[in-house]
Amino acid sequence: MSATLDFASPISLPVGAGPKLSLVGRDRVGLAAALAEIGVPAGEWKMRVSQLWHWIYFRGIREFEEMTNVSKRRRAALAEHFTLARPEVAAEQVSSDGTRKWLIRLAADTPGEKPHEIETVYIPEAERGTLCVSSQVGCTLSCTFCHTGTQRLVRNLTAGEIVGQLVIARDRLGDWPGAIPPRKSGLPDLRTQDPNSGKPEFGGTIVPAGERFISNIVFMGMGEPLYNFDGVKSAIEVIADGDGLAVGKRRITVSTSGVVPMIERLGAEVGTMLAVSLHATRDDLRDEIIPLNKKYPIKDLLAACRGYPGVSNARRITFEYVMLKGVNDTAADARELVRLLKGIPAKINLIPFNPWPGTCYECSDWKTIEQFSEIVFRAGYASPVRRPRGRDILAACGQLKSETQKLSARERMALRAMAMTD
Ligand code: SAH
Ligand code: SF4
Repeated sequence: MSATLDFASPISLPVGAGPKLSLVGRDRVGLAAALAEIGVPAGEWKMRVSQLWHWIYFRGIREFEEMTNVSKRRRAALAEHFTLARPEVAAEQVSSDGTRKWLIRLAADTPGEKPHEIETVYIPEAERGTLCVSSQVGCTLSCTFCHTGTQRLVRNLTAGEIVGQLVIARDRLGDWPGAIPPRKSGLPDLRTQDPNSGKPEFGGTIVPAGERFISNIVFMGMGEPLYNFDGVKSAIEVIADGDGLAVGKRRITVSTSGVVPMIERLGAEVGTMLAVSLHATRDDLRDEIIPLNKKYPIKDLLAACRGYPGVSNARRITFEYVMLKGVNDTAADARELVRLLKGIPAKINLIPFNPWPGTCYECSDWKTIEQFSEIVFRAGYASPVRRPRGRDILAACGQLKSETQKLSARERMALRAMAMTD
């Protein structure tokens, strides 16, 4: 069962409505530029940026007037030039398993143009709460088993739009310090208390250990994060900053379909955890299901993984493997997977294929998945099978797609060609 709540009227806050720009999503340099614009002398920028940072990213406030340690005059000047608006939440869906999916409408690129939409998913679990964020509108890579790859419109998200997804999720979950009882934000308080234990609950699911609902972030929503390297890198710097949103880099995982030249840069310049969508152990099959493999074959991909800066037994690379019935799920495939990964500090994550309307694939039988998992386990890998979450609201891996248009075979070929020449 799922419920769709349309919040368009009470809480929609289009970013940049009118001439004012939002400060939400900006890095420190961007905030200093805002201060310069309202005439704050350069000598004060560092201190004033820290104040803004605290209010915007630690407290999550929505009105400048809440910035109590900023003078009234400055607050008025800020409000005259800027907003603290978030991208618009067009709809929120709640899965029967507590997973939440937000459809987020971005500001139109040009006035009058239809705005782009992206999806962000929150997955509550006992030990952690994971936010799955998008890095692009759509994806150019057209992996054959992925719904996102069939989306017509593609563009990179800005760093601000990536950060905005976390800010919105914290708003919707009441995940800012002091968010109980609800502040004068006008948002409903979605937290409740378990009547027996007194522990906070959210939509019937327990709050993960630790003080925040969102403890981890995965770049496993729409898009190929390493095709938007600069945007993703800048966003992570804001998200991981300990004085603000404070989701540490070891709790952030960037998943790639295998953009080999960017893997080393991700480790060296960003330093997050890495996940690699392997899904096949032979180039002929991987070429077919992940066309990018023609450009960066398995051997090169695994060499990049071996050299991933910071990789160690304590910081393993996650290899994702989607279980496609009759395609990549034999015992021989499992043994080959183990052989290929030898020597790489790795975790293997088996993902049951999540079907979507119009797909030609099916998920492997449960027995086949268990046999596959057993071989991987016996080879010494913890091989958790990723429990599908939010399937009823199409929020599971690879089901995300904000537009319902499907590409023609010809358009898919053209996109693929575009991706290969990038
Ligand atoms: N573009 C990146 C990250 C987004 S996709 C990547 O490909 O890694 C996140 C994960 O979902 C990837 O492992 C992807 O292969 C997987 N996935 C895509 N479609 C899926 C589907 N229908 N069922 C299960 N997993 C899927
Ligand atoms: Fe893009 Fe990842 Fe989907 Fe492939 S699996 S089409 S890279 S989002």
